[in-house]
Amino acid sequence: MVRMKLFSIVWFTSIISVNVHASQNNDVSFNKFKVYRIDANSQSTNLKSSLESLSVIELAHGIGDNGSPTLDVAVPPEHLAAFEASNFSSIILSEDLGVDIMVEGSLGKYPGLDNEGFPDLSWFDSYHAYDDHIRFWADLQASFANNSELIQVGSSFEGRPIQGIHLWGRNGKDSRPAVFFNGNVHAREWITSMVVEYLLYQIVTGYGNDTTVQAALDDFDFYVLPVVNPDGFVYSQTDNRLWRKNRQTRDNTTEVGTDINRNWSVGFGGGGSSSDPGSESFRGYQPGDTPECAALMDFAQSLAADKGIKLYIDWHSYAQVILLSYGYTCDEFPANIDQQVSLAGETAARIAQPYNTSFDYGPGCLVLYQSSGNGRDYMTDAARTEFGWGVELRSTSYGFLLPANQILPSGIEVWEGMKYLWVNM
Ligand SMILES: [Zn+2]
Repeated sequence: MVRMKLFSIVWFTSIISVNVHASQNNDVSFNKFKVYRIDANSQSTNLKSSLESLSVIELAHGIGDNGSPTLDVAVPPEHLAAFEASNFSSIILSEDLGVDIMVEGSLGKYPGLDNEGFPDLSWFDSYHAYDDHIRFWADLQASFANNSELIQVGSSFEGRPIQGIHLWGRNGKDSRPAVFFNGNVHAREWITSMVVEYLLYQIVTGYGNDTTVQAALDDFDFYVLPVVNPDGFVYSQTDNRLWRKNRQTRDNTTEVGTDINRNWSVGFGGGGSSSDPGSESFRGYQPGDTPECAALMDFAQSLAADKGIKLYIDWHSYAQVILLSYGYTCDEFPANIDQQVSLAGETAARIAQPYNTSFDYGPGCLVLYQSSGNGRDYMTDAARTEFGWGVELRSTSYGFLLPANQILPSGIEVWEGMKYLWVNM
């Protein structure tokens, strides 16, 4: 396993050459917020309470070049002086999150269909409103009607359908083991649904032309749910760009939202999850007490009981790492871990080919951090999935606010990795 390289590139470039539009987010402004990466090992034990008193927004945990854990936080302008005075060992990742949001680009229009009847590739030139994602899935499915169907696995807390596409090859519907993908479980990780849609687009347009695509789709039934946290995703577009959790309210607290990716039943309640409803990693009170996670567990069980699950990938950003099981423990490993590490290494090598983007790989608890109650561990232990993975996409340099002109490159590099994985696993 290689060590994650987190530091090499500058988060934010001051030369803005794209059109700058007003932010699409109405209620919460991040103007003048700075982003810092803190060396968590070098700090006193009260780091957490110190940061809480500064009202920082927790963005991501990682591992620095020196191997010690890091924490990325956004600090509001009124607390910048106090943060600087506290002398945390840190580097600045962004001088102004508000500018980053403008550079990310505004939501694009739905481009319609191209001359061949597929959704136009210019879809991947910008991020999009949730309703347009739904149109994209419907149009893509319609262009591949003999080999696909729209599916719905349940509903979100606010009643939105959790939906996606099921695709199959020459053996017909429901005939092969499953490849199961989830995107945007974390609302603010917008690149994940775009990349998952790029993979779908390549499968749909490649089947019949590309022998690798043909082999993959003839071997597996693909179940792809690009946005499994629709409430949070919509909220991240209308109110708060950095929203992570779902939008579930609960008795006895005014805090909103549960981290769906800490709510799965395997490892539930362990380290790397929180019992505090105000935490970004609040796990809920009981396993599966979010409607989104409950629906995904039910769906996984139905796939497991039918033809089984070969590969599950839960798509995230922004650590650039392929996460294998387990997240909830650093001391135990799936029986096929050697094969998994080898496949992940080759996949990472293929991802690096187009643009030299570096992805680390290995058991999540070792290469990133402990996380209990996550989807990949559930798939591995409770749904007998051969390869239960999480992939953290770009970008360690831009964070969640990846400029729109990196959507297509992100899709292209991941496609190279997936083409290798699907025919070699
Ligand atoms: Zn995530």
